[in-house]
Formats: sequence, C-alpha cells, structure tokens
Amino acid sequence: MWFNEFLSKYKSGISHEFLFYFNVKDLMDNNRNIYRYIDDEFIKQRNFGIVAFYDISRGLTFLEASMEREFNMITGNEVSNLFRSMPSKLFPYIDMALKNTKMALFIDHAEKIVPAGDLGSMTLEERMALIWLSEWSVNARISSVGSTIFMLADNLADISREFLKPAYRIEPILVELPGEEERKNYISFLLEDKTTHSEISLEEFAKLSSGLNRKSIKDIKLKAEAEGVPITFEFIKQKKHDVLQKEYGDVLEFIYPEIGFEDLGGMDAAKAYLTKNIIEPVRRGDSRRVPMGILLCGPSGTGKTLLVEALAKSSGFNCVKIDMSRILGQYVGESEKNFKKCLLGAKSQEPVIVFVDEIDTAFRRGEAGDNGVGRNIFSEFLQFTGNTNNRGRIIFIAATNRPDLLDAALKRAGRFDKKIPVLLPEQEERAQIFKIIIDKYRISTNIQDFLPFAKLAENYTGAEIDTVVRKAYELACNKKEDRPVITGPILKDALKKCRPSTQDVEFMTELALAECDDIDLLPKKYWVRFEKVSKQA
Ligand code: ADP
Repeated sequence: MWFNEFLSKYKSGISHEFLFYFNVKDLMDNNRNIYRYIDDEFIKQRNFGIVAFYDISRGLTFLEASMEREFNMITGNEVSNLFRSMPSKLFPYIDMALKNTKMALFIDHAEKIVPAGDLGSMTLEERMALIWLSEWSVNARISSVGSTIFMLADNLADISREFLKPAYRIEPILVELPGEEERKNYISFLLEDKTTHSEISLEEFAKLSSGLNRKSIKDIKLKAEAEGVPITFEFIKQKKHDVLQKEYGDVLEFIYPEIGFEDLGGMDAAKAYLTKNIIEPVRRGDSRRVPMGILLCGPSGTGKTLLVEALAKSSGFNCVKIDMSRILGQYVGESEKNFKKCLLGAKSQEPVIVFVDEIDTAFRRGEAGDNGVGRNIFSEFLQFTGNTNNRGRIIFIAATNRPDLLDAALKRAGRFDKKIPVLLPEQEERAQIFKIIIDKYRISTNIQDFLPFAKLAENYTGAEIDTVVRKAYELACNKKEDRPVITGPILKDALKKCRPSTQDVEFMTELALAECDDIDLLPKKYWVRFEKVSKQA
C-alpha cells in the first residue's frame, strides 16, 4: 500500500520529498482524504511546527492560524501579502521556513507548477519552481530539521522529467486504486446505513467495481439512493462505464464478456490449451503455470477476438482492450501520457486480460525506434508486459495476422511467448459455427444438419459465415411469409452470393503456421509439415 511504501522510504532516510501520483483525489479509507490521512497517521505523531498547503490557484494556506503566525515570524511579517504570488516570489520564503522549523508542506497539482516538456520550452517561472523543488530534495539542512514535502499529481507523465532525475531525491509514490478486498470493506461500510438496497452480494459488488476509486463507488450508492432504485448489476455496469469512459476516453475499451467457450465453434486445441494453462491453474490459485502473454496468429475473421472474450468469461478475469492506433495517433506528448495512464487503468482491473488487437500495426519490426514517441511507448510496453510480478494477475493477449512483422523483442521468452495459431475452421467446425451464429441472432431455421452446408463453405472464415447467415436472413425476409425461416435452399443461395476472400487468407495461414512451435496447437492435417521441419532441423 502507498502509505507503507512512503513510511518505509521516509524512515530509511532516502528522502524527505515525495511525489504522490495517480489516485490522489480519492478517499484513502472509509472517510479520510489523503491530506487527513497523512496528517492523522504521520504528521500528528511527529511534532511538526507548521503544516502548510500550496497550490498555484489558491496560494499558501495553513492548517492552523498559529502556524501562519509562526511562518510569518520566521520569514518576516511582510511576507503575508505574497501568499498568492508565483513560486519564484514565494518559494524563497518557504525555503527559509523549511530550513528553520520542522515543516510539512503539501503541494497540490504539482504538474501545474512544473509541467512535462523539455527544459527549453519551460517558462522562466516554471524553471525557477523546478530549481527550488529539486534543490529542496537534496538539501541537508532541510533533512536535518526534519521538514517534509508532499507533492501530489494525477498523472506522473504530466510532470517534468527533469524532476525525477537521479541527481535529485524526489521519491515518486504510486497511490493505487483500491483492490478488490479494500473495495469490499468500503462497500460494506457504505451499505451499513441501509439507505439503499443492493440486489447483488458484497462480493459481486466488489468484483464489479474494479477500476473504480472509493469516490466513484460512493457516487454509485448515492445515485441509487437519489433515484430510489436498488443497486443492481446493470446499474453498476452503467455507472462504471460512464466513469471509466470519462477517465480513459477512447484508448481503453472495457469488455464485458457475454460469450463463453461453448459459444465458439471449433478451436478445440486453443480451448484445451487455455483451459489447462490458464483457467485451471487460476482456479487452483497456482499462477506459476500461467503464461505471461499469448500471441494469437491467424487470418482476420477467424475468431481471435471472440476467443479472448470467451477466455475472460470462463476464467472470471476482467477484460480490457487497448486501442494502439488511437494512442499512437495522438499528439506527441499526449500519446505517451495517455499510454502510461492507460496501462495503469488496465492494471487497476486485476485480475485482468489485456488485449491488444492488430499489434503489428503498432510495434513493427525496426519501426518502433524511428521516432521518439514510438520508442518511448514501445519500451514502456516492453517493461509492462515483461514484469513477472504480474504473472497470473495480468495476462496479455495480442492478436495479429502478420506475426512476421512484429518486433522480435515482443516474442521473446517472458512476454508473448506462447503463440497460438487461429486458423480457418475445418468442415466440422464450420457446421458448428453455422449453428452458433444462427442461434446467436435468434433466427429460425428448419435445418437440422449443417454439415452439407459446411462442405459448401470451404475456405470461409467464421466472420464470412456470419455474413452468409445474415445474407440468408435477408433472403428469408424477402419471402414475405409470416415469419422468416432459413431453409436449406435459402442458405445455399446465400452461400453462392457471398464468396470467401481466399487470397490473403492463404498467406496469413502460412505465416501463422510458421510461427507455431507446438504441434499440439495445430490441426492434424498440418502435423506432417511440422514433422518434416523437425526432421530437417
Ligand atoms: P478476428 O478477431 O480473428 O478478426 P473476430 O473474433 O472478430 O475475428 O470474429 C468476427 C466474427 O466472426 C465474430 O463476431 C463471430 O460472429 C464470427 N466468428 C468467427 N469465428 C467464430 C467461431 N469460431 N465461432 C463462432 N463465431 C465465429
């Protein structure tokens, strides 16, 4: 927890200046914000003479009037009319106080004082503030007096990088979103007053509210109370969607899985692998077996996205999708900032499957190093996906139809090291897919056996079968009978009208086969090729 990290760093004497970031606006327990929390748990027990707050819009304020008097005494009385002035004017006086009495200084919105960007683009005022703030972190006098500086910011990436250079000793402390257990405690506290009725259990509420901070959870309760409705699954889902949408915009998509493995036609080898290596170990609480990352390779429309969704449902993991094209398409600086935030947002959903579709468009071989933004984002991504502390809590799944174009660093052991081919469905599988898709759309049919149609649908992907079914429905509707029914002749007709696109598919199938290093994941008809290759080797 953030407070313990802070305390142990403080006690070890590493630093007396800290930068708290991310979930700093939240309640830190049932009713205290971060200021009160730090005041109760830290400052009160340590005899601080002055506790003061500074932010650029409100200026300098004090916890108690007596503290303001003491500040004025140390710095000279003329200073009180400077409390609302810019850092370059005010900070020299704060400097005096920090060095002469044990002072706790909170600086809110640190990113407004020393914003991100290179030194050259900083205003003189920002540079002055940067100098004061960074010098304080290494000042021996401040350290011996025992003064402590607490800076706060929502997003670490909004702050000047200069600030966090090792030459200074500003210690960043990540204030995380509450975990499932903490949310559970908080929700049980919130519901104690019985003003709202919850139709779901405490455990379900806690699980569903992943990614939300305590304030947003409280809002859900207050909204239900105001609207006079009970708290239901749908109610939370809707409110959560609104909050997360606002927070992470369009770079993170939260997927609420509706389908399970049984709604996926074919893919037996992939399902078996995922069951054995993810679902079962997770249930047993044995995360060592769980792969860090999986790369799904194969032509478009073969059900890769669907497989991820079904895995989320069957494993009970949350699921988020990162849209890399949106991130990379933003302004320089913006994209890096949003990417960092997006990774923290993804992490907040633990246990979670993080899905990156069409990963080759973001991280192509050689290309990532071309411009600064791409390189920074790529190294951030490598660091995040390679962090073994996340094993069993975060599973990365990427999908691509061009594995050959991917940067090799991604495929190395410990990242996307398990490659699963997702290929065109075989005849049996196509028959299953026909049935599943017709059921999915709740269309009536009098066809019992789909095998003959599956035979006609050679080389169709799942997505193309979906198109055929929709075409058949359209044809059935044209018949102007009471109720549209897909009959054999109609489905045959639809198949004639929607042809598969075979060209790219063959090429992408070859690429996926070339990538695969585990014969158990291949359909039998390809085993011969695998054996041949092993013999040659
Ligand atoms: P990909 O991610 O490989 O491009 P998708 O998962 O987006 O493919 O699949 C597109 C659509 O094709 C799905 O929404 C579904 O209707 C259909 N589909 C593809 N494969 C299957 C399958 N194995 N079982 C059921 N439907 C499938």
